[in-house]
Amino acid sequence: MIRPVAVIGAGPFGLSAAAHLRARGLPVRVFGDPMVSWRAHMPEGMLLKSTPAASSLHCPRPGHTLADYCAEAGIRRLVSDEDIIPVETFIGYGEWFQRRLVPDLERVRVDSVEPAREAGGGFELSLDSGESCTARAVVVATGLSGLARLPAELGRAAAGGPAPGGPVSHSSQHHDLTRFAGKELIVVGAGQSALETAALAAEAGARVRVVARGRGRVAFGAPPWEQPRLRPESPFGRAWSLWAFSHCPHPYRFLPEATRHFLVRRVLGPLGAWWLRERFEGAVQVTEVERVLGAEAEDGGPVLTVRTHGGRTERLTADHVIAATGYRVDVAAMDFLGPGLRTRLAVSRGAPKLGAGYVSSVPGLYFTGLPAASSYGPVMRFVCGTDFASPRLAGHLAAAHG
Ligand SMILES: Cc1cc2nc3c(=O)[nH]c(=O)nc-3n(C[C@H](O)[C@H](O)[C@H](O)COP(=O)(O)OP(=O)(O)OC[C@H]3O[C@@H](n4cnc5c(N)ncnc54)[C@H](O)[C@@H]3O)c2cc1C
Repeated sequence: MIRPVAVIGAGPFGLSAAAHLRARGLPVRVFGDPMVSWRAHMPEGMLLKSTPAASSLHCPRPGHTLADYCAEAGIRRLVSDEDIIPVETFIGYGEWFQRRLVPDLERVRVDSVEPAREAGGGFELSLDSGESCTARAVVVATGLSGLARLPAELGRAAAGGPAPGGPVSHSSQHHDLTRFAGKELIVVGAGQSALETAALAAEAGARVRVVARGRGRVAFGAPPWEQPRLRPESPFGRAWSLWAFSHCPHPYRFLPEATRHFLVRRVLGPLGAWWLRERFEGAVQVTEVERVLGAEAEDGGPVLTVRTHGGRTERLTADHVIAATGYRVDVAAMDFLGPGLRTRLAVSRGAPKLGAGYVSSVPGLYFTGLPAASSYGPVMRFVCGTDFASPRLAGHLAAAHG
């Protein structure tokens, strides 16, 4: 029996990798809920921060860019850096890409992956449909799933875990922000997700305060027409560093470990999109603090204790706190990786260490997207990272397991 390659994940990275593997003639089974992170774990009405040029899933065949989708769906073409992409359009694009290139996608969850017991290597997968199957190689493209990060100081008010109905939740738990109409909301964080969540909640009728750590942390990028002309263009703006991260991620994994992790956090880090400033300023109150010391639930509502820049301790109350505190890659949180695999995986601060072609220390086990960022750089956190990742991953896998 020919054992397929299993791709776990049907977001931008999984779909793009699957299209490349198929184009190389490999049998592939793809598991996951298509575009679910965008459909269920980002706010309705959100606009993409990435530009149209940086928002296509890389495909081995022409005719599958975001612009191609817009043309076919009769949507206004999104091409220039000033065109802003509604999340609903991007979800439609991802689902269209899936129907055309991965039509036999299996909407099931992979419950566990373990090394195969039989001779010849490979992997054994258990699916939540009750089926077990084997694969010659596995591509993990599970993106943001299960990696939401809640800082310990906020965790105390969220006994039993963050929840939209409790005092503290994580931004990934919200799709419909109209539930906060008429309520007082604190959003902790200063990245695009925090600032856009705050603006959308304010537009829905909430009284919103953003609590950000550090001075001057709430900031917005320059519009395309104010970007410096003498620097090279990249999908993220004009800068030499951004150009290098976007087009040459290959040497990234040879940088010192501390530098790699620092850059993943900082490059393209907390900064609101240029087009958000007008909607945000005046609608959302900003409180910049030295530190958030803790959060407690009192009478069902959260109380946030902060240290101000003047050194005072203050208590901030609200009906609810949303922690827009991002994601952290940790293979220990990828519960579908069985103990037989996790113990063999070389990791660096929780993230898998990847070699050429996105292969981990376990032959046949590949990672792409966010879990690959500490090896291939910050571009792996974004859709345009598929340009570099998918052809290389598919090329390596086909050579080693084709
Ligand atoms: C608020 C917000 C805004 C963003 N805006 C942008 C933007 O404008 N531009 C941009 O480029 N990036 C943006 N990003 C980053 C974006 O999320 C990633 O670039 C992209 O989603 C990563 O795609 P992915 O395929 O790796 O993972 P995801 O899109 O997270 O997809 C994960 C897939 O894995 C599947 N899965 C998980 N576990 C299992 C399992 N055990 N079994 C089977 N399937 C499983 C899920 O069903 C899903 O199909 C944003 C992120 C956030 C949080």
